[in-house]
Amino acid sequence: MAEILDGKKVADAIVEECKSEVGRLSLCGITKTLAVILVGNDPASAIYVNNKKKKCEYIGIYSKTYELPEHTTQEELLALIHRLNEDLHVDGILVQLPLPAHIDENTIIMAIDPAKDVDGFHPASVGALSIGLPGYVSCTPAGIIQILKRNQIEIAGKHCVIIGRSNIVGKPMAMLMLKENATVTVAHSRTSNLKAIAKSADILIVAIGKPEFINRSYVKEGAVVIDVGVNRKADKTLCGDVLFADVAPVASAITPVPGGVGPVTIAMLMHNCVFGLE
Ligand code: NAP
Repeated sequence: MAEILDGKKVADAIVEECKSEVGRLSLCGITKTLAVILVGNDPASAIYVNNKKKKCEYIGIYSKTYELPEHTTQEELLALIHRLNEDLHVDGILVQLPLPAHIDENTIIMAIDPAKDVDGFHPASVGALSIGLPGYVSCTPAGIIQILKRNQIEIAGKHCVIIGRSNIVGKPMAMLMLKENATVTVAHSRTSNLKAIAKSADILIVAIGKPEFINRSYVKEGAVVIDVGVNRKADKTLCGDVLFADVAPVASAITPVPGGVGPVTIAMLMHNCVFGLE
């Protein structure tokens, strides 16, 4: 039976490190401020923003939330971002995604000053990651590296298969695993032979958004399995992209959903805000 990789435990450790750094900074008169922008009434987004706010409070980060109505125009949102870019008291800017359909996400992401891009979504941050320069790293992939390292899972030399190539998970994950000297394969919806490729992984990272899609027939005996997916089943309970009960007996280690990657993602956002560019 696989070791269960406890994301909450890893997240708690990161949050405590942030709290202690905030305490140290406050002795020097420095306060960290995160601006969070929420546009519209998406209930899931409201919950995410609230969770981030609570974490900031616990750590001692000053958070300013801007809750804008659904009909906010792109120009109004851009004007707010420009103001926050110029505000010397604001260290990080986070625009909660998804945005309403009439606002172009890429335009908004590109408007954020890369020095305040704590989500790591700006092309400058993504480019910096791909050529090994300092920059903010997308929180979910950065958190997965923390889960692996803090559980003493060897990455160098391993074959890592990432299923999913999104800009916020799959692609930055591939860059980070390369940086850690893994041999990386990225698979997606047009990949032929997905099962055989997944089965060749020492570390299998799944980010596809399909409830319990990956069963044990995709997993090599002894592989480490990281489940990024967050899906709601018909009975409203949460599940990942991996069929946990089926895969856990063959994997050597596995993240649960909930309680795996999710909590570490928020912790890494806090980390980015407190420690800045690394
Ligand atoms: P996304 O933008 O929808 O991307 C999904 C990726 O999966 C795409 O690259 C797609 O391929 C690929 N894919 C879809 N079906 C596939 C299949 N049958 N076989 C192989 N590949 C397939 O999703 P995302 O934003 O990366 O998120 C993925 C999941 O992670 C979602 O459940 C999301 O809620 C979750 N998530 C969790 C966290 C967290 O903190 N825990 C953070 C972010 C996301 P194509 O490119 O070919 O379309």
